[in-house]
Parts: sequence; structure tokens; C-alpha cells
Amino acid sequence: MSPLAATGVLRMEDWLKDDLPDLLWPALVLAEQGNESIRQFTRWQKAVQDGLADHGETGLVAESLDGRLTHLSVLSERLPGAADLVVAEATRYGLLSQNVRRVLNSYPYMPAPWLTRQAEVRPPGLAELESIRDALIGVLEDGHREALLKCLRAWSTVQAGTFRSDAKTIDLLKRYPGDEDTRSAADTAVRAGWGAHRGALAIRDPNHFDEAIKWARVFWGANSMTSRCIRQRETKDENTAGDTQDGNDMNSNCAADFDGDDAAPTPLPVDGAHLRQLTMDLLSSFVEALETAPARLYEKERQEVISGLVARAGRDLIAVLTAPDLWSMEHGAHIVRMLVETKIYLHWMAQQDPSIYRDFQEYGAGKAKLYARISDEVPEEARKAGFQEAIDEFERLSHNHDVFDHRVVDTRDTFADGKSIRTMATEAGLLDFYRQAYSLASGVAHSEWWSVETHAMEPCVNVLHGLHLIPSLSLSYGGNVTLASSWVDQFYSLVRAGLSILDTDEAAVAAAFAWVEAAANDVPPPASA
Ligand SMILES: [Zn+2]
Repeated sequence: MSPLAATGVLRMEDWLKDDLPDLLWPALVLAEQGNESIRQFTRWQKAVQDGLADHGETGLVAESLDGRLTHLSVLSERLPGAADLVVAEATRYGLLSQNVRRVLNSYPYMPAPWLTRQAEVRPPGLAELESIRDALIGVLEDGHREALLKCLRAWSTVQAGTFRSDAKTIDLLKRYPGDEDTRSAADTAVRAGWGAHRGALAIRDPNHFDEAIKWARVFWGANSMTSRCIRQRETKDENTAGDTQDGNDMNSNCAADFDGDDAAPTPLPVDGAHLRQLTMDLLSSFVEALETAPARLYEKERQEVISGLVARAGRDLIAVLTAPDLWSMEHGAHIVRMLVETKIYLHWMAQQDPSIYRDFQEYGAGKAKLYARISDEVPEEARKAGFQEAIDEFERLSHNHDVFDHRVVDTRDTFADGKSIRTMATEAGLLDFYRQAYSLASGVAHSEWWSVETHAMEPCVNVLHGLHLIPSLSLSYGGNVTLASSWVDQFYSLVRAGLSILDTDEAAVAAAFAWVEAAANDVPPPASA
């Protein structure tokens, strides 16, 4: 936690989601008539306050005229006649145009429904949808407009004589919004004060905003029914088409599918075409060096394990290098993990007693026995052809005795008494390598949200939907040659590490890898060749 977060009093809220629907009326008016129309709202506040003065509820009335629909609703319940007065004065000051009333009337369950004076809810047409969009974008893109909206409560309480603040804020507000020199500072103070006041209300009464949030759910839910999600690429298409009217497709039918260039498989990059063959050559030379050098066959487990791990890494890499779609972090993270894990295994095991190689194999044999037992739990009717053969193969791989069941199943997480790969990395001096490469790639493999968000999601650009994320229909373009080359480099380092740990005869290694030295001395051919 940051020190700020640790105070426990900071709460991050989403005012767009929770509060803007409640402030929809003034947001619509500001979008329709411009920022100047905020003065009409302050006149309306004054007129309503004067008209309700006889009730002796100055505080309640002042707080209820902050632009929130839910507060108007409370006011009308508490003071008889308030609703009529609110509508009459709003009409007089031009705050309830035909369009504004039509838009508000397109929502079911709106608080203070008497504001529009229409009994039946009518679904929005294109014009209404565009008005709502303008209202939302207006406050989202214009911080000054947002501040004007959030200043309604201050102005109402100032006029009622119930506003309280420090001298500096009062000084800023006196000249707001007319004075351009202090406007930006005042905007900031207003927005901050609005948030703090909202927080105070929520602490005083945790249920204070229940109705507002209930309405927000309806608002966003209704929008999801009246307009569809829009992807960035569609707005691009629209621009290139040129003749489509703005917003025309907001409620047209959805055609979500993969298409166009985004959907084609990544072609093999010219400068990466050699990587697969190169990896096969490296693996072949690795095997050749081992087979032409004297081997310590008495301790066969050591060479089996090391050569097996290197070969496995090479085979995985060769397969991935046939498919350039996988040459990206989204789809190639498992290769990074596998390469890093193999490197940590090799270096950590090299520091242990040589019996570790035998332990490694025994741990695996135990797992094979476990899998054979688990497979055998499957009921007869669920077994397909070849099922018994699979169990038999696991039995074989468990290297158990037909009569004497000596195979121990170690159910701990790793072959090293359950020691984690991270601990192995620390002990092998590879902790930074682990943290910088393995953990990030693991995040991708385990679907940590940052990875899902960046790889698989995109923002819906229909602002009526409140800026949510939707599944992306663009595939990641693979073919990252730099990334694929780094895998091959990493594999080559595994090959060399394996041979060095095995102490393989230097002459045999030099002979098998002579072509690498020769290639390194060659001038690389031009890319067009
Ligand atoms: Zn959407």
C-alpha cells in the first residue's frame, strides 16, 4: 500500500457510473444550451427557494436543488407543492425544453418522474440517443463543464445562506465562473469539494445514495438495450466511408465477428524464416556433441535429465516457430516460462548432490503412478478406445515392479522436496531473471487481469455504455521476430549450459558447433536475398 492508501480514508469512486445519471437533467441542459445556461439554474434555485420559504426548511430546500434527480424526489415527498413549483420555475427559465423532456421521458423508473409531466415512457429515438451522448461526452471531455455541474450545490447553499467553507475557497467562488484568471483553480476546488462533500454524506448516512445508485443501474441497463457496443475500428470505417451520419449506427444491428486483415493468420516474417531451421540445427549439434563425446554412463540419470530437458525445450520452440501467430507475449508466454524454468532447473540441479537427477526422475515416475490411478477412477461407460492403453503407458512410466509396489508418490509441488521454483532461482543466483521474465510470463499464463485487459479486451466507444471493456475482435498480430529470436538465443544458452554442466569433451563440442562460429564470422546476406 502507498502511504495515502494506508490511511484508510481515501476512497476511489466512479462518479461517471454512480452520479452522472442522477445529474442527467443539468448535464442535458448544458449540452443543449452551452455552459452559460448554468446561470438559468442558479436563478431557478433562487426562485424555488423563495417560493418554498414559508415551509421553514431552508437547509433541506437548498441541499435538494443541487441538480440531482433523487434529491428533487425527496424534496417533493417532504414538501407538498414543491414539485409543481420546481417544474414551473424550470419551465420559466428554459430548463425543460421539449428535447430535454423527451430524453428524460425515455427512461423507466427515473427519480422525480413528474419533472417531464408525461405518464408514459417512450423508448428513445436517434435524436434522444444523440442528446444523451452529447450530455455524457460534454462533462467527460470538458473539466470546466463538470465543475459547473458540481458547483450547483454550492450555489444553492450560498443563495440560501447555508454554505460554509474556508476563506480561500469562498474567495475563488466569488469570482466563479466569470474570472478567467482563477477559473482553472476554482474548477479544481469545486470538483474536489464536491467529491469531499459526497464522501461526507456517505459517511453520515451510508444509505444516502442508495436511490441514486439504483437509478444508475437502471440508466446504464436501459442504455445497453437501446444502443449497442461500438468498437474503435467501426468508427474508423465510418470515417473512411465519409458519408455516414454521425451516430447513425448507434442502434443498428450488431455484427460482431472476426474479419478483414485482423483475422488472417500472421504470415512467416522474412527475417524470421530461418529461426526454425536454426533451432533444429542447434538441437542436432547438441545431440551430436553428446554422442561423439565420452559419456559417464554409470551415472546415466545426469545426462538423461539434462539432455532431456534441453531437448524438450528445443522441440517446444521448433513447434512454436512454425506458427508466427504465437510469436507474441499473448500467445508465446508459455515458451518464455518453459525456457526460464528449464534454465533455473539446470543451474539449481548443478549445485546439488548428483543424486538430484535420480530424484528428478523418481518424482516424475511417482507422478505417472498417480496419474494411472486417477485415470482408473473413470467409470467404464466414459472410457473411449485406447483408454486402457493410456493407463498401461502410465504404469510403464511409473517404473514400478509388477509384484512389489515400491513406487512412492510425492504429491508435493516440485521434485525438490516441494521447494518452489522461486526458491531454486534464488539459490542459483537467478532471482532477478525469475522476477523479470518468469513472473511476468506467468501472469499471462494465469490470466491475470492486466494481461487479459491488454491482450483480449478493448474499450466500447459508445459513451452511453459508461466506458466499459468488451472482448476484442482483433487478433494479436504475432510475427515478433525480436521476441522469437530472443527465444532461440535463450535456447542456445540452455544448450551451452547443458554441455558445460555435463562437462562434455571440448573437442566434441567444438566440432559439433563449428558451423555456429563460421556463421558468426560471415557477413550477413542482405534481407532481399
Ligand atoms: Zn458497450
